[in-house]
Amino acid sequence: MPRTAIVLKGAKVRQINLSRKTAVCPSCGKEGKRHSLGHRWIYDLGLSKPALLNVTYSKHFCSKCDHFFNISMEQLAMPGSSFTNRVTKTAMALIMDKDMTLTGASELLQQKYHVHVPMTTLHGWVAAETKAPQRAAG
Ligand SMILES: [Zn+2]
Repeated sequence: MPRTAIVLKGAKVRQINLSRKTAVCPSCGKEGKRHSLGHRWIYDLGLSKPALLNVTYSKHFCSKCDHFFNISMEQLAMPGSSFTNRVTKTAMALIMDKDMTLTGASELLQQKYHVHVPMTTLHGWVAAETKAPQRAAG
């Protein structure tokens, strides 16, 4: 399911290469050789126009576990997310620290950073954040 079809007109696209020849298997810690490449589009904060990352990543095979895994990109974006961690952090700061409504945060992200985060996505982030048990009170 290529997401290239929804690349925004006039968006600034940054190519990110996360491909490595080997990567450590998350299950057993053994190095797994690169098997193939994958691509993923991730929305980032844009200062003057929409910003998109075109991420190339490597898929690896662990011969010990006999399974495939992707190279970790959690420093950039959480698995399955269409947005970079910077977008998530900025949105959460607006909602949690500045007490903005989801609508307000969504509008500000659109106006200031040219990124459209659907309300349902914002709601999911807030729910995940407020459920996190390790978050210290105060
Ligand atoms: Zn393994």
